[in-house]
Amino acid sequence: MANDSQRICPVCDSSVNSNAEICPVCGCDEEGGPQDEAKAFAWFQQTAEKGEAEAQVCLGLMYENGQGVPQDEAKAVYWYQRAADQGDASAQFNLGVMYAHGRGLPQDYGKAAYWWEKAAEQGEPDSQFNLGFLYATGKGVRISESRAA
Ligand SMILES: [Zn+2]
Repeated sequence: MANDSQRICPVCDSSVNSNAEICPVCGCDEEGGPQDEAKAFAWFQQTAEKGEAEAQVCLGLMYENGQGVPQDEAKAVYWYQRAADQGDASAQFNLGVMYAHGRGLPQDYGKAAYWWEKAAEQGEPDSQFNLGFLYATGKGVRISESRAA
């Protein structure tokens, strides 16, 4: 007996047949993982250009990891930056990581601290941890025992 029930794709909100593992619109699975990388890249690019922060972060990740597109850290930074400017906490965290490691842009602990601070204000837990490390080592920020605690 055919199962023609539908589910809603967590990434693109399309109605997808429950039997289909991969969304035919955005190429992502039920957990939102990009399975069909070429299709996912095309979808995220189109959506990111419309200004959607979540898609901008996903597009940045695909550039950073070389999924569906040749790896390009400068382009990853570009998309993280656009989403971070919109106040997206995970973009702010990722941008801080790029600054801390000098990936896709010159290394700058001060800017890493700036973006982790913004993400931490929104409760992003990894940013809080990384900030604690920066404060403890005095990288990019004035050494402050209390902030590292
Ligand atoms: Zn989808």
